[in-house]
Amino acid sequence: MTTAIVWFRRDLRLTDNPALRAALQAHQRVLPVYLHAPDEEAPWQPGAASRWWLHQSLTALDATLRKCGARLHIAAGATLPALRRLIVATQADAVYWNRLYEPAVIARDTVIKEALRNDGLDVHSFNANLLFEPWEIATAQDTPYKVFTPFWRTARARLQERPPLPPPRRIEGIELADALPLDRLGLQPKIAWDKGFHAVWQPGEAGAARKLREFCTEAIGDYSAARDLPDRVGTSQLSPHLHFGEISPMQIAWALHQQAHSARQQAGAQKFMSEIGWREFSHHLLYHFPQTAQKNLNPRFDHFGWAVDDEVLLQRWQRGRTGIPIVDAGMRQLWATGWMHNRVRMLVASFLTKNLGQHWLHGARWFWDTLVDADLAANTQGWQWTAGSGADAAPYFRIFNPVTQGEKFDANGDYVRRWVPELRSLAADEIQQPWRVAGGLQRCGYPPPMVDLAVSRARALTAYQATAQR
Ligand code: FAD
Repeated sequence: MTTAIVWFRRDLRLTDNPALRAALQAHQRVLPVYLHAPDEEAPWQPGAASRWWLHQSLTALDATLRKCGARLHIAAGATLPALRRLIVATQADAVYWNRLYEPAVIARDTVIKEALRNDGLDVHSFNANLLFEPWEIATAQDTPYKVFTPFWRTARARLQERPPLPPPRRIEGIELADALPLDRLGLQPKIAWDKGFHAVWQPGEAGAARKLREFCTEAIGDYSAARDLPDRVGTSQLSPHLHFGEISPMQIAWALHQQAHSARQQAGAQKFMSEIGWREFSHHLLYHFPQTAQKNLNPRFDHFGWAVDDEVLLQRWQRGRTGIPIVDAGMRQLWATGWMHNRVRMLVASFLTKNLGQHWLHGARWFWDTLVDADLAANTQGWQWTAGSGADAAPYFRIFNPVTQGEKFDANGDYVRRWVPELRSLAADEIQQPWRVAGGLQRCGYPPPMVDLAVSRARALTAYQATAQR
């Protein structure tokens, strides 16, 4: 009887899981394991909101495995010695996993693969979390893409949707005495800031499948227009499920391929797939330019005139007390739910980097700690794009005006009303600029804008222009 270890990481699902499937095809017994070693992902070990999600998702994975006759073995500490201990305890001959692409994880996995092979084990890794490996899409000159549109044109043309691999019905599991209870990983918050999360999210494979089903039946036809309106559920909210691998992008591509029937749905599906394409592009960039999680992709920005780091400014932004309603609504939605609408992410990021002049890394770090979908590739790309230092970045002269953006995309003010309840009594034509209502700020108990939007915009334009001409 041969035994394999399947090392679960951010592929917390049984459907469309190539590592699990290959292990089950080649071995009689399988030990599914989760090894907790956050320090090996430094300096980007999972933040507080991600840890919350991970706890729930591991609980869900264990429950699904138990229905198949196995259970998730949990251990903590350095991964290689932990794997070696498990190999001895189970007499496993092989280890299987699905690949991840963050620089620290690639380095760690490369060492582990080589060490285990030198120990005489079979080691197999697979692509489960991207449509294409980051190195599979290249320009005609065999260089990485830095612009999204040609990247996605090439990738889209090569994409062949396929049905997902079915989940196993039965797993001949193994039980080891020294499994760590999940609670011992300390992933749950010690003070209950997560109350709002439970109402919004259902982490785990079943929750991901439900979100996809709802999106395909209720939202896909309106996606192209509704995706920009933060007061609606016009987007899929699949990002944390994708990040933790509770659903694969191929499952999504296949579902859209099967279910988008009308011309409207097909147009929505095409737009939606291009957002999945942005996810692919982010991974492509981080793989080829691994320094960009900390450094500007565009080196001209190394000499950019950022304002002096200001803890007070930063805290007001973090707490949603900037005095700019749509910015505050976004920051409070983030705090309450661990998620923020994409349009509003762009606005709050632009406000921090352009109006307040703070370095994009301050924002990236706050998002990292507070987003349930915090993803090194997408977060780095999102912040560098908005700050102007990244690939295919917003041109320097495009500085979002949060007031006009609010008036355009939250025209009734419902999004602001929901997250900034002090402003609830204001009319649609007042709510994005409460300082213009006589006595309005005092009546609502809301702060005045922490910065003059026009003056800070002009200052930012001058600094960006200088960098663009350098
Ligand atoms: P949908 O519109 O339903 O899109 C479907 C999927 O496509 C998403 O789940 C996501 O996986 C992917 N996607 C969509 N837009 C983007 C994008 N611009 N870049 C990369 N992938 C995308 N996304 C993250 O997943 N993690 C992050 O840490 C993250 N940080 C961001 C930081 C900033 C400053 C900005 C501007 C954007 C960031 N994004 C991040 C991208 C985007 O905001 C979210 O992916 C999106 O809001 C998730 O909501 P959704 O699942 O409903 O999206």
